[in-house]
Amino acid sequence: MSLRIKALDESVVNKIAAGEIIISPVNALKEMMENSIDANATMIDILVKEGGIKVLQITDNGSGINKTDLPILCERFTTSKLQKFEDLSQIQTYGFRGEALASISHVARVTVTTKVKEDRCAWRVSYAEGKMLESPKPVAGKDGTTILVEDLFFNIPSRLRALRSQNDEYAKILDVVGRYAIHSKGIGFSCKKFGDSNYSLAVKPSYSVHDRVRTVFSNSVASNLISLHIDKVEDFNLESVDGEVCNLNFTSKKSISPILFINNRLVTCDPLRRALNSVYSNYLPKGNRPFIYLGIIIDPASVDVNVHPTKREVRFLNQDEIVEKISTQLHAELSAVDTSRTFKASSITTSQPGSLISSNNTIENEEERRTLRQAQVVDNTYTITSNRLGGAKRQENKLVRTDSSQAKITSFLSSSQQFNFNGSSTKQRLNQPKVKAVTQTLETEGSTLNESEQLQDDNTSSDDEIKGQPRKKQKPEIHGTARVIDSGKRMPAISKDGYIRVAKERVNVNLTSIKKMREKVDDSIHRELTEIFANMTYVGVVDEERRLAAIQHDLKLFLIDYGSVCYELFYQIGLTDFANFGKINLLSTDGSDDIILYNLLSEFDGLKDELSKEKLISKIWDMSSMLNEYYSIELVNDSTDNDLKFVKLKTLPLLLRGYIPSLTKLPFFIYRLGNEVNWEDERDCLDSILREIALLYIPDMIPKLDMSDISLSENEKTQFIDRREEVSSLLEHVLFPCIKRRFLAPRHLLKDVVEIANLPGLYKVFERC
Ligand code: ADP
Ligand code: MG
Repeated sequence: MSLRIKALDESVVNKIAAGEIIISPVNALKEMMENSIDANATMIDILVKEGGIKVLQITDNGSGINKTDLPILCERFTTSKLQKFEDLSQIQTYGFRGEALASISHVARVTVTTKVKEDRCAWRVSYAEGKMLESPKPVAGKDGTTILVEDLFFNIPSRLRALRSQNDEYAKILDVVGRYAIHSKGIGFSCKKFGDSNYSLAVKPSYSVHDRVRTVFSNSVASNLISLHIDKVEDFNLESVDGEVCNLNFTSKKSISPILFINNRLVTCDPLRRALNSVYSNYLPKGNRPFIYLGIIIDPASVDVNVHPTKREVRFLNQDEIVEKISTQLHAELSAVDTSRTFKASSITTSQPGSLISSNNTIENEEERRTLRQAQVVDNTYTITSNRLGGAKRQENKLVRTDSSQAKITSFLSSSQQFNFNGSSTKQRLNQPKVKAVTQTLETEGSTLNESEQLQDDNTSSDDEIKGQPRKKQKPEIHGTARVIDSGKRMPAISKDGYIRVAKERVNVNLTSIKKMREKVDDSIHRELTEIFANMTYVGVVDEERRLAAIQHDLKLFLIDYGSVCYELFYQIGLTDFANFGKINLLSTDGSDDIILYNLLSEFDGLKDELSKEKLISKIWDMSSMLNEYYSIELVNDSTDNDLKFVKLKTLPLLLRGYIPSLTKLPFFIYRLGNEVNWEDERDCLDSILREIALLYIPDMIPKLDMSDISLSENEKTQFIDRREEVSSLLEHVLFPCIKRRFLAPRHLLKDVVEIANLPGLYKVFERC
């Protein structure tokens, strides 16, 4: 027999309804806090005992409740905020159901003390199950309302048992109070545990949003904020978005769920949270969580707040579009600040006690930024090590390199290896075999230049030929530069110091053309590729003939054309240091040998006649003061009659410490300087000189040598090996560290970087084996 349908007892209905709204103390508190905000309070004080179960008291200085309204205050559906259903669409206040106080009074003992301005005293009244227990008593009190909720869930033991620990409940309360405190400008908040002398949270009404974030969270959050603002977007019924979100210096592994207020209601909105987190994942280091506070105002008519009794969930029209709009704006704000980040670095406990980096410096310069990042790594490594040793004296010999980005021990080996033209290595190059002609096309912007043709020219021209004597084809031809240096007669040698840095004040360059060129480089940056270079680990040279090297980034291995990369790198260095280069002194050690342009140019077949040579030299000579001032290319002519035949090249710009270009290409460089540079147009001229310099500075190709070839002498073999080692050391210790530190990869370089392996892919292969 089926049971008859009966109407539930009213008290059961009320309890069920209350249970929907008041699930834990924090729900009751949120409702009461919202009532206080609705009553225009400017100060809200909260007192909590036993996680809000024993006592939850909230005192405000708002409008107060009229004595005449007190009898029905805790009855269901009594509200001063909504008169008819249509008002729902325009509702501006937090509450509107008239259910909160009623619900609380069904699951707890409620006492209200309230005073409106007009009354001479305050009134106190207690409630149970929605009913006023006795008529209001006059008491002394200030304007405003105090609602005391005691023994929450005293009549629903199952709910009581389901609650978390008192501390957890208190933490939830504090979290919600904090969120409201951040959003409610002009309202002060305080929250404390019963019996505690200190406040857990104290926010003054006058606090700014930043002060509020600082008080609720921490200084590290507050000092890393950027504002996010969106104006009215008519199409989506979006009135405004205002908020504070973290910048890119913010690091926190702790997740703070987004503080999201829609039409001043604390809500959650999963699609928005996911979208914003995914924007941040592009910027913040892996594992770091962002801080997001947003206040969104949407036309009330397009928001449905009546989805759930707790009013925590909202639905609104054009949700996708609005989420998209906010994400795009966030993207824009973050990329705008991506150029400058703050790094906190404590003292570096290396052998240089002077290298302290003050904390919280904002590093504008990419180079400094990266250097600092490295410094930090060093610092961390040492700290960890010394901790592990328990504060005992650090045993240097037991230190291990734990970070692949740090220098290896080989980088401390004799720096003489790092110069192309020094001591013994110069001698060894004397008897180098003829350099095989290699074809490699290097594309420069606008023109395609076949570098190898010229190289072939250089390499196959003998010393005698430079002197103007016929080429001795039968003689094994040797590497031009090295040979000449050793002879100590004609080709440039580097003076003993290797290079000199001319100490001069840094000149500010205000040329628009240079600025434009710098902007062009900025515009052409490929972000991901630059990131790859900035965070790479150099693996090694793969092919010196084709100028290929391998680098690792993340779980991927890349093959890169280091010729093209170095070309761009030197061009960029040239742009940055324009007019501020140090000088590489090309005088030979005894000062007797000069590098005479005329002789250099004798190598070019097309320039055999004196006239064309002189024409070319005169072009360069006319610009000599500019070349010296801007590029540290010093030319002198100390012949008495100013004969152009005697114009000498004295110095070259020092682009990178520890790196001196191979001078094999010097004749080629001079030739192009006279022939390729458009001296008429300022920007064209400055740019192409920088490009020619970059070309000169690219490391030489080292043609392959078949080691099994029996016709090769031992000497030739060792020289080849030496040269290879020299280049690989230069790449590892000078060029690639610099690339990592400062290289901005242009988009067109994508073709010169090939991914050749990735770890997950390799795992798959090995799994199959
Ligand atoms: P609602 O907020 O949905 O109207 P509540 O049950 O939360 O319903 O509150 C009922 C009514 O009690 C409110 O409409 C308001 O008039 C009054 N009230 C509650 N708390 C306060 C307060 N702190 N200050 C002034 N009035 C209050
Ligand atoms: Mg309310």
